[in-house]
Amino acid sequence: MKKVIVATKNRGKVQDFKQLFQRKGYEVISLLEIPSSPDIDETGTTFVQNAILKAEGISDILQTMVIADDSGLSIDALGGKPGIFSARYAGDHKNDEDNLNKVLKELHGVKEEDRTARFHCALALAVPGRDTITVEGTCEGFITEEPIGDNGFGYDPIFFVREKNKTMAQLTKEEKNEISHRANALRKLEETMKNIRLGY
Ligand code: IMP
Repeated sequence: MKKVIVATKNRGKVQDFKQLFQRKGYEVISLLEIPSSPDIDETGTTFVQNAILKAEGISDILQTMVIADDSGLSIDALGGKPGIFSARYAGDHKNDEDNLNKVLKELHGVKEEDRTARFHCALALAVPGRDTITVEGTCEGFITEEPIGDNGFGYDPIFFVREKNKTMAQLTKEEKNEISHRANALRKLEETMKNIRLGY
């Protein structure tokens, strides 16, 4: 089976990537299974810069093809926040519930039509000795007034997707991966990869 290393320890992302790659015949290996892998500092100022830092950092060490994802939620009424700080919006302890409660508090009293938001996903594919490839995907929605649904991770319970008439956390894994920012980015990456011979 072909293998792909996904440079993340985020269990929610690992689930998404497994769902997306396994049907294409890839075994997904995450950094949860490589405990010795270092944490790469996300010192970039954009999703793309951070994805490149993670993919190249891990690929340099493991000397193999690595995909990294940097993603987050951008809320119009908050001037694009939490943005690249999505994982640690309520503090460095990186707690999903605290993060979404902070967002709900900040949006208190904001009308539905002004609660527009989008998820962003930047993917970087690093291959030793080659230029790194990057793509971006988004998913549009709005922020609910309270959490709804038990699936997914992160901000999924407060992100309403109009075309599904449900929050992300009410969707099955399969449904989320039809419309998510990560799936959209991965579709673009696949298109780009078709045009190059990677030798992997
Ligand atoms: P990263 O690990 O620095 O890329 O941070 C990503 C953060 O963005 C996660 O910890 C979540 O808070 C949020 N996020 C990214 N993708 C999703 C998603 O698919 N659903 C919900 N939250 C997400």
